[in-house]
Amino acid sequence: MNIQNSRFVTSAASPGAFIRDGKPQLVFAGRSNVGKSSVINRLVNMRGFAKVSGTPGKTAHVNYFLLDDGAYLADLPGYGYAKVSDAERRRWGELMEAYFDSGLVTAGFLIVDSRHKPTADDVTMAGWFAGTGTPVVVVANKLDKLKKSEVEPNLARIADTLGVADVLPFSAETGLNRDALVNRLAGFF
Ligand code: GDP
Repeated sequence: MNIQNSRFVTSAASPGAFIRDGKPQLVFAGRSNVGKSSVINRLVNMRGFAKVSGTPGKTAHVNYFLLDDGAYLADLPGYGYAKVSDAERRRWGELMEAYFDSGLVTAGFLIVDSRHKPTADDVTMAGWFAGTGTPVVVVANKLDKLKKSEVEPNLARIADTLGVADVLPFSAETGLNRDALVNRLAGFF
């Protein structure tokens, strides 16, 4: 399986605009600047597909991309950006809660930074997936930034902190494990 034909479909800023057509919805979440857009671009092999380093906090939308007509990739707004207003943060939380409660989420892909211990926001996001019984794949991005000796301990710390069994090491920069990630997505089609 490969991802050959992907296209942006629509943005939902409120629950009424969520897509409800029965196709699987594979959700991509991560704190801002973790490289989520870069991971998505690597996945679909298109530069500039998901916008890299857009204005953080200005995007309380669910952005839907259709992958090979089989499933949606639902890109969630990046979280944890300090300069977001309280009102915007609240709107984000309400949108996320409605989305997770909607029963529309098939699987989650939580992008974290392989260099760091997951943040409290990462733990909250993992909890949202777990709380709704949604399978989650944790993707440890920016692996190219680690020394060899850091890889195993860092991946173990991520798995421990988020309470998951396995973590997929990844680099949007080098393409490490791009095909493995495609296969994980394909498993939910
Ligand atoms: P987003 O805010 O999560 O969508 O993050 P972006 O995709 O905009 O990436 C944030 C920054 O991290 C950019 O400068 C990217 O070039 C960089 N970046 C993303 N992925 C990687 C990676 O795997 N390795 C390295 N070294 N840099 C990355």
